[in-house]
Amino acid sequence: MDRTALASTVAACKALIDTRFPEDGENGAAAMLLKDGTVLTGTAPDAFNPSVEVCHETEPYCAAYRLAQRIVASVCLHRESGGRTVVLSPCGVCRERLAVHGPGVLVAVADRQDPTTVVWKPLKHMLPDYWMTVFPDETARGWTA
Ligand SMILES: [Zn+2]
Repeated sequence: MDRTALASTVAACKALIDTRFPEDGENGAAAMLLKDGTVLTGTAPDAFNPSVEVCHETEPYCAAYRLAQRIVASVCLHRESGGRTVVLSPCGVCRERLAVHGPGVLVAVADRQDPTTVVWKPLKHMLPDYWMTVFPDETARGWTA
């Protein structure tokens, strides 16, 4: 994977947080790198009822589908009040959504010693016992336990 493209994806995510939310506060965003090199970003609106809120990844995920592009990497960042920005690994729902793009999709997770540092992992390493691994067609596509 192109390290420069991955770094640009993280930078685009940080830039969205800083431009959309210039005031101090708790905010986040996501960015996804597409197969053609495009970087898509997104953020999630607040709602009165938190149960209807969506993940930051939702906007770039849907845009990739609209553009008929494969997602090759995904990052989600959360800026805490005071400015520290931590890496959020994709939630279970986002992992399931990203699975459509294959077991090799790179996802950003927090470094265990420094949660502000991105560590890239293939999605299949996040889902070692993924439910699709019992189907032979899926193991042929790379979903192996
Ligand atoms: Zn999610």
